[in-house]
Amino acid sequence: MSRKELMDVVITASGEKGYAASVALPAGAVVASWEETAVVCEATKFTIQVGQDRHVDADAVRFLNHSCVPSVFVDASTGNVVALRPLAAGEDLTFFYPSTEWEMTTPFDCSCGHDGCIGRISGAAAVSADVLRRYAVNEHIRALVAERDSRLVTSAG
Ligand SMILES: [Zn+2]
Repeated sequence: MSRKELMDVVITASGEKGYAASVALPAGAVVASWEETAVVCEATKFTIQVGQDRHVDADAVRFLNHSCVPSVFVDASTGNVVALRPLAAGEDLTFFYPSTEWEMTTPFDCSCGHDGCIGRISGAAAVSADVLRRYAVNEHIRALVAERDSRLVTSAG
């Protein structure tokens, strides 16, 4: 089965385009992936950050929406979008934007409605290390958080 058959473009409850699983998927299933040629250096509303100055602009990930309780992980190290848990057919594919984005071009207030919703979504730069620890987070974000927090400690001392 090709990966294109694993997800559909849908209109979500909030009226936005999004992706949903078209079949039941096991945890760890690769639902989408991108080619290295899709990596650009400028961020837009539709790109996903995969390195400090690297952003993916690809149909395979363009309509992946945010949730504070995500169903997939965007793995910058492999170029794959991976199911975080078993997914039912029709379930929304969402990821935690701060797991890839440091500072977003288009911040918004999250309306995912989950307990533990972090509210304003503007990138990991505005999220505490404590909150980020609850999530699978990419290496470039971990590095930027470590840099940010070491600076805070230094300036406080
Ligand atoms: Zn939320």
